[in-house]
This record gives sequence, structure tokens and C-alpha cells, in this order.
Amino acid sequence: MHRLLFISLLFLSYSTIAQDLRFDKDYAAIEKKVIDWRREIHQNPELSNREFKTAEKIAAHLTSLGIEVQTGVAHTGVVGILKGKKKGKVIALRADMDALPVPERNDLPYKSTVTAEFKGETVPVMHACGHDTHVAILMGVAEILSKHTDKINGTIKFVFQPAEEGPPPGEEGGALLMIKEGVLQNPEVDAIFGLHINSETPVGVIRYKSGGTMAAVQSFTINVKGKQSHGSQPWSGIDPILISAKIIDGLQTIISREMELTNEAAVITVGKITSGVRFNIIPESAEMIGTVRSLDYDMKEQITRRMKEMVPAIARAYGGDATIEIRDQTDITFNDPDLTDQMIPSLIKVAGAEKVQQQKAVTGGEDFSYFQNEVPGFFFFLGGMAPGTTETFPHHTPDFKIDDSGLLLGVKTLTEMSLDYLEK
Ligand SMILES: [Zn+2]
Ligand SMILES: [Zn+2]
Repeated sequence: MHRLLFISLLFLSYSTIAQDLRFDKDYAAIEKKVIDWRREIHQNPELSNREFKTAEKIAAHLTSLGIEVQTGVAHTGVVGILKGKKKGKVIALRADMDALPVPERNDLPYKSTVTAEFKGETVPVMHACGHDTHVAILMGVAEILSKHTDKINGTIKFVFQPAEEGPPPGEEGGALLMIKEGVLQNPEVDAIFGLHINSETPVGVIRYKSGGTMAAVQSFTINVKGKQSHGSQPWSGIDPILISAKIIDGLQTIISREMELTNEAAVITVGKITSGVRFNIIPESAEMIGTVRSLDYDMKEQITRRMKEMVPAIARAYGGDATIEIRDQTDITFNDPDLTDQMIPSLIKVAGAEKVQQQKAVTGGEDFSYFQNEVPGFFFFLGGMAPGTTETFPHHTPDFKIDDSGLLLGVKTLTEMSLDYLEK
């Protein structure tokens, strides 16, 4: 009863603040352009740190709108700076640009048939994560806002980011490199917004979570050293395969026995183990690689520390030795709770209260997290699943599909959110 009352009050208070959308005519006029851009980019996908044509297209568009443009940021990144007529805060809107080495299986008029070089091989390339939609949406937002600088109380930075999926081996890239090259400075950014299209969320729906939204992704490598012996005489050697089994078992107890899992989820997965050559030899060594996922900064620190303590200790207990190296791939995509609360009315205004839904945390990662380590940020999911669809396909797969009718909501949301934030 109390809860019901609270919920209805909440809706009431939001609906009393809610105004109309600002630019109905502009929104209606931009939809076809956004869809056309998206299709063209979809048909011409480019891999991480190789987004040359995509960057050129973005830079030409921003320039034609009279927006100040920086190119070559973090290799192929493009940054547009739009100053409002009135002084105020600075926000950044981020869209990632890169595609993936995935063959497209969809039968679309704008299907990708592109190939590219990846790790020394020729591979098919596809926008199998939907970053083509992010670019097109942000190009649309830039076009609308550039016509209404009188309504902008501050400055908006359009951040078109390369290599979200990770730079090729041996290269730097993505959000981290953009930050290193000063994308959050000159002028200093107060808050950042980003979205991800989702193939399994219906068109028209926005989903979000306050706090830890997507996981910190870490990868690890464990090297176990034993002593080789004949398989028939284990007493004369030290078995690294047995030690590996004990380590895998031990690592799982960090999650199941030491983490307060009612706070947030956490995962440790050993994904590969390599050792040995034949049935009757106890080998010299073993190597394991795997991943850690966490959604809370303290838990991440605790898991990392305990893995580093446990791995060598277990190996020593069985007479061997082991080392572990843990590397960050992304940090926690952490939606600042105050900023999230502040933006919910804008989401409801654009999508309608019943279409703005809270969601569970995702154990996948996003390098948007690195921006959120520097400034408060809000990252949400936009529906891309066509009405009436019965079967959906996950991101990064050949059948992954996004329906264009979901894009306009993304344009409206980022536009309204930006102006609402700057007005306060
Ligand atoms: Zn992806
Ligand atoms: Zn993505």
C-alpha cells in the first residue's frame, strides 16, 4: 500500500515537471536522414582504430553545421564543440564508431560485404554491435542542436570515439586514449552521456540502472610451474595439472564464499587451460587464461587482491609455483546515482513513463566506464528490436539486427537530456 502510494506520487511528480518536447518539427524532419546515415555506415563498417571513412563523414557533417571540429583524436576520433548563446556547464555526448570481425548473415539491402585485415588475416566486417546507429543518432543530435544555440546554456561536446571494442594488439585506443589526449578538457566537461542500442529491447523502450550498470572487465593469465615426470611415477614430479585444478576450485570460492553477492554480482571464469603433450607424461607447466567481472569498486579490489594471494599460495601448498597477471580491459560502467535521478524525468518525458524501465546489471563491459571514472556519467540502453519480432540475436553475432524505427527516440533522448541538464 505504502509502496503503491509512493510509486503513484513519483509518477505524479514527474508528470507535473514534464513539458513537451522542444523541437517536434526538427525531430520529424531528421528521422529519414538519421536512418540513411545509419544504413550507409552499416554498409561500410570499419574495424577499431581504422574508422577512417566513418570519421571523414562525421567531420564533414559537423563542419557543414558550423560546429568547431577536431579530428585525429585517439587515432580516428572526431570531436565537435558547440557553444550555446548563454554561458553554463559543459557536457559531452559520446558515440562509438567501430565494427567487428563478424560476417553479416542478414539479408538487408544495406548488408555489409566488406572485408578488412585483422591480425594478419582477411576477415569479414560487420556493425554487429550497433555502433553504426550510435554514430547516426549523434550526427542527428548535432544537427538539431546546432540550429538552436539560443537554447543551449553552456557547451556541448560531441565525442565520436574509435575502438570501443578494443584496439588491435600493440595499439592504444578507445576511451582511455581519448581521455589521455584531453577530450574531457578545454573546456572541462562536467558530465557525460552515452547510450547503447540493444537488439533484445523493444523499439520505444529505454532501460537503465543506477550505480554499477556494466561490469569491470579484467583478463588474467596464470602460469603454473611443476616438475616433469613419467606419468606412471607422480611421486617423482610435481603435477601442474593437479595444481591448476586446485587453483580453479580455489578461485571459485572467492566468489561463492567471500563476496557479499546480495550487493552486486561478480564472476570469475577460467576460459582456457593449456598443458601437457601426451597421456603418460606429467608436464612441466600449465597456463590458464580467464576473465573477472565485477560491478562494485570495493568488490573488484577485493577479488583482485585475493586472486593474487591465493594463486601462488595454492601452488606452494602442492610443492609448485604459480604467478598471476591481471589486466583491466574496462572499468565499471557506473551511473552516478544523483545524475541518474536528475535525468529520469527527461527520459520519461521523451519515452513515456511505462517505456522507461529499470534493468538488472549486465556482466558485459563498456569502455564508456573510463569517462565515468573522470566525470559523472549516465549510460542507458535504447530499444532496437523491431515490433512483432519473435526471435532476437545477441550483439556480436552474424544475425544481429537493429530496427531503424528505434533511432529517433535516441536522437530525442540525447537532445532533451542535454538541454534539461544545462538548464539546471
Ligand atoms: Zn560490442
Ligand atoms: Zn557496443
